[in-house]
Amino acid sequence: MARVLNFGPGPSMLPESVLKRMQAELLDYHGCGWSIVEASHRGTEVQALMRDLRAAVRDLLAIPDNYDILFCQGGGRLQFAMVPMNLLGASPVASYLVTGTWSKTAAKEAMRFAKTQLAFSGNGTRLPVDEEIDIVEGAAYCYYCDNETIHGLEFPTIPEPDLKGAPLVADMSSNFMSRPIDVERFGLFWAAAQNNLGIAGLTVVVIRRDLLGLASSDVPTLMNYGVYSRTSSIPNTPPVFQLYAAKLMAEWIEKEGGVALMNERAKARSALIYEVIDSLGDFYLTRTEARARSRMNVAFRLRTESLTQDFIKAAEDAGLYNLAGHRSVGGLRASMYNAMPLEGAERLASFMRGFADKHA
Ligand code: PMP
Repeated sequence: MARVLNFGPGPSMLPESVLKRMQAELLDYHGCGWSIVEASHRGTEVQALMRDLRAAVRDLLAIPDNYDILFCQGGGRLQFAMVPMNLLGASPVASYLVTGTWSKTAAKEAMRFAKTQLAFSGNGTRLPVDEEIDIVEGAAYCYYCDNETIHGLEFPTIPEPDLKGAPLVADMSSNFMSRPIDVERFGLFWAAAQNNLGIAGLTVVVIRRDLLGLASSDVPTLMNYGVYSRTSSIPNTPPVFQLYAAKLMAEWIEKEGGVALMNERAKARSALIYEVIDSLGDFYLTRTEARARSRMNVAFRLRTESLTQDFIKAAEDAGLYNLAGHRSVGGLRASMYNAMPLEGAERLASFMRGFADKHA
């Protein structure tokens, strides 16, 4: 069977060249006679792999030396706890911008550790402008989600509210490595790897070094960013295959033309789909405000909701998979991460026109 196009929200598709390389290297990694997943994390291969991955991430995002790059496990959700556990310091309060499910879930988890002040609370269809964001004095940090995967809401640029001295923290799980970022605007940003940089089980945390020592002594060892920094992200056995996948993806991004090119492609792919939705407005609809339309996750609906299952089935017949919206919001969603070729978006756009034609 030919490979289908996977529009799932994550884990996402990987470039075929990356999968083939994994396959080719699985039995014998670089002439060692063993697989990388059998290698000791104290051995030279894994050490080199992690060094190379760190260097590639630093290079691709132009991360200055006063930021450390940590490799954690526990997925995105563990960061919902690790961020407050590590950054609260002596402050009892942290500010959160709630723009959709993921920032809401993060704010809820943080309530176990701190008072959370909602500096903005939205309804999942729009993002705040800077003047609407009201950060409380004395907040340990201001947290937001750069791309709300479920609602298809993405900050067009890094928000610039009056931070009142609080470091800015961002969840970039679903748009990491998809555009250049001004790293120095952040105290910390993090991303689970399974959308744009590989496979589930690895989370990349980029943290300004002066924020590394704030965790109190009762924070568990494996939840302390300082421990990851001191051990070069080997506080225990690391997820070697995940690190390997991320390294192959980072090399692929580099070879393709870097994150600026990933951004151009993401804009081109999503524009094709938004164009169909806008031009066939009596058939399709999106509730996302124009400036917050995600380049990664296009959330849309059919005006005739009862046709949604037919749409999903017909799309599968055309080789276009995983287009159902999140179960909490319904509708449809096309997720198009770094590995999605432009041709994939073209095929989806053409399918959408055909489906509308047939059912109008
Ligand atoms: N944040 C965002 C933006 C996400 O999209 C997700 C999941 N897709 C998460 C956090 C949670 O990640 P995980 O499933 O790895 O815990």
